[in-house]
Amino acid sequence: MPLRRRLAEVHSGPIRVLHLEDDPQDAELVEDLLREENLDIEVRHADDEVGLREALAEFKPDIVLSDLSMPGFSGHRALAIVRESAPSLPFLFVSGTMGEEAAIEALRQGATDYILKSQPARLAPATIRALVEAADQRARDQAEQELVRSQRYESLALLAGGLSHDLRNILQPLLIAAPMIAERAGTDQGVVKFARMIETCAKRGMDMVASMLSFARGARQINPSLPVGQLFRATELLLQGTRPRSMALSVQLSDDGLAVAANETELQQCLLNLCLNAIQAMPPDGTLTLAADVAELEQADINADEPAVPGRYLRLSVIDTGVGMSEEVRARLFTPFFTTKEGGTGLGLLSCRRIVDNHQGVMRVHSTPGVGTRFEIYLPMAQAATERERQDYDGRGRHVLVVSEEAGRLSIVADGLRLHNYRCTLARSGAAALVYLDDVPSAEVESEGAEQGLPHAVVLDGEMRLLPVARVLTELRYRNYAGLVVLAGAEDVPEAARAGLQLVEVGQTGSLPDLLAALDRLGSPQDTRN
Ligand code: ADP
Ligand code: MG
Repeated sequence: MPLRRRLAEVHSGPIRVLHLEDDPQDAELVEDLLREENLDIEVRHADDEVGLREALAEFKPDIVLSDLSMPGFSGHRALAIVRESAPSLPFLFVSGTMGEEAAIEALRQGATDYILKSQPARLAPATIRALVEAADQRARDQAEQELVRSQRYESLALLAGGLSHDLRNILQPLLIAAPMIAERAGTDQGVVKFARMIETCAKRGMDMVASMLSFARGARQINPSLPVGQLFRATELLLQGTRPRSMALSVQLSDDGLAVAANETELQQCLLNLCLNAIQAMPPDGTLTLAADVAELEQADINADEPAVPGRYLRLSVIDTGVGMSEEVRARLFTPFFTTKEGGTGLGLLSCRRIVDNHQGVMRVHSTPGVGTRFEIYLPMAQAATERERQDYDGRGRHVLVVSEEAGRLSIVADGLRLHNYRCTLARSGAAALVYLDDVPSAEVESEGAEQGLPHAVVLDGEMRLLPVARVLTELRYRNYAGLVVLAGAEDVPEAARAGLQLVEVGQTGSLPDLLAALDRLGSPQDTRN
């Protein structure tokens, strides 16, 4: 793309030019040269240190042009001052007297370029180039920062996820035992009080666990059609600083239009981790290949512990001509903190796999010692449509009563539903749900938008113990509940208990996508009123 067009893309508004020059004629000449090229510029002049510092602070130039020597001030001194506060601000020497040695010295000190007054035609192109390169550098720095930030976030999420599962296992028995103690305390009010205290604290703990879990899962944005070309270009850009110049990079896209449903930041990070590993495994004259094509996975290609299903997959490959790995290393690749590098974290591949898992994909490794390694990521392609559907679920403000004895599950489900525009009421047991339904005054059912209105749907956790789910269903039928009843992960509910209800069952864990799909069967809000 011509640099002029790139400049228009990366820079809007007038270009602020600070020109350090003591000769008014030369100043005018330079300004004319830039305007002749139709550059929209705003120029400020200075010819001493005070003027320069003032201009840096107030005028905030996009670029500095500087004469080599001014009375009482030198261009080299100016460059040093500019570099102190603005290491990446383009700085061009414009001089009539610059010898080759002085020019080389200027570049060594951090000047962006130099233009001899005898070559006026170079001024505008050099200015444009410097501005575009500075903008590109800023974009790269920003992308790098974003990556570091997301990697930190990723490890934090990993930690929070692990920790919250452990904590839940510790708190769960307290939640069950405390009410039992209270029950058996008889008339001893002291014991009852302590038992309640234990229960309250355990519940608070569970709430914290729930919010940790929802952090660990993160608010993931799935782009239903993320172009692979874009992903590869960004990876290339991010690797620019890390990849030795002598290392070849080959990008192979089987089809320019390849796209996949994925979270861009996560997938980007995944590719980057694999590329960094590949670069670290290779001599400086190796070849790094990024490839993308479409591949079929059959049932036999998928291990039992993997969330993937047979079908069409986008295959992303990161291939190096590096040292390869031994069987021992291969076997331990995804073990947390396993590294063969001094200063390695041993978390890169683990984080990759977590990301690929989250996308219902799989990872594969092929490696030959002394020859090289190929990492492959398979991401489901048909998912593009289903993910889009998931994103589009809209509760249109309908009211759902969510019932679960597990505080964590309760708030996760409710948070998820609220994100999809449902209003939620939470009940911590089947009994609490029934009491709630009985208390809804029928008058309020008519009032539009009242959170207290009769719920359009009831979501029941199938694993409830205090009041078994079959009992809750029976009670709902006694009350002629006409809304949708979604049963999540229930086993052995007798046929009789289901009768007379508008019932939908969803899978084991009652995962949110399944739940949303089930609730989506609801008609318009009025349809479900008694
Ligand atoms: P780290 O890079 O911090 O060591 P990773 O989880 O990214 O952690 O990688 C774990 C280990 O897997 C590495 O230390 C290395 O031994 C091995 N490994 C990963 N990628 C490659 C590769 N492309 N070639 C050879 N070995 C690799
Ligand atoms: Mg690594």
